[in-house]
Amino acid sequence: MECIIPRRDSMPVKIGSLTVGGRQPISVQSMTKTDTRDVQATVAQIKQLEDAGCEIIRVAVPDMEAAKCLGQIRSQINIPLVADIHFDYHLAIEAIRQGVDKLRLNPGNIKDTEKISLICREAKRANIPIRIGVNSGSVDRKRFPEITAQAIVTSAMEHVHLLEECDFTNIIISLKASSIPLTIESYKLMSEMTPYPFHIGITEAGPIRSGGIRSGVGIGILLSMGLGDTVRVSLTADPIEEVYAAYEILQSLNLRRHGIQLVSCPTCGRTEVDLQEIVYSMEDKLRAIKKPLRIAVMGCVVNGPGEAAEADIGVACGKGVGLLFKKGMPLYKVPQEKIVEALMDEINRIGSSGEGTEK
Ligand code: SF4
Repeated sequence: MECIIPRRDSMPVKIGSLTVGGRQPISVQSMTKTDTRDVQATVAQIKQLEDAGCEIIRVAVPDMEAAKCLGQIRSQINIPLVADIHFDYHLAIEAIRQGVDKLRLNPGNIKDTEKISLICREAKRANIPIRIGVNSGSVDRKRFPEITAQAIVTSAMEHVHLLEECDFTNIIISLKASSIPLTIESYKLMSEMTPYPFHIGITEAGPIRSGGIRSGVGIGILLSMGLGDTVRVSLTADPIEEVYAAYEILQSLNLRRHGIQLVSCPTCGRTEVDLQEIVYSMEDKLRAIKKPLRIAVMGCVVNGPGEAAEADIGVACGKGVGLLFKKGMPLYKVPQEKIVEALMDEINRIGSSGEGTEK
């Protein structure tokens, strides 16, 4: 199904080979949780994230030792590398020399205009963008005792102007607050003031369950308002969960298709198989499949065939059995213990045949 959400007309900005904004597909990004100085562990985590569909990766650069590892990391990965830097302009300059594809920093934290101008000159020469990331926590409380959307946007615009005064406009903006209404209001206000693309997310969202829901609500609302060019879900969890969650949000709004969309019924007193076991076992196996397919696992024959009919592959379960469907046509019945195996066989068959739902 086509996405019907009109998107904000943002300026296109290139990060390595990827374009963010300018109505390009909304990209998915994450951040490593390893010590950046441990190149092997960081590259291993990035490779896992690449496999899961991560399209941009950010690493923390807390000191010069970490900055000097960026080139080695960059040479071993396939997606754009972003250096996350605070306060020390030497780290920004070194990160650019190491070949990163983007910087994330707040020029206001560096303060000295000569140092900011030097970073801009080097970033311009390397043709890489800078993301200004303003969090509600980083807004100056002396000037803004109350953190409002206006305070966040004013603070962000001051950072933007610092770069623009250096004739630097290769900018991406993020405005994050752990309060969802405040985040939404801030992005809405900012969208009326600049053409720069938006990196969106809900900061400090929390662990998988609650953080995933909070991110789904916040990011989902922003996307449904047409705001957002690249997404990062922040979770206190393995970063691979951030990538899965981001695609789930984008798929829910038909903004991207990536991998399997698994729909299943909640089960009720009519269910006569162990549907939870089937679904959870399927969910793990399906993560490796990149092809966009819709799979339905339904607990009974009341709603099962109808829902399964809209899927590429589906199963409607009865007493100890499952009736498999393919594109609405019944295939065959299998005993309960064979349902997962039979579904996986059909999914792999359809996956290798080039069939599937729309991209
Ligand atoms: Fe219950 Fe059937 Fe609906 Fe599942 S599909 S919730 S088993 S009525």
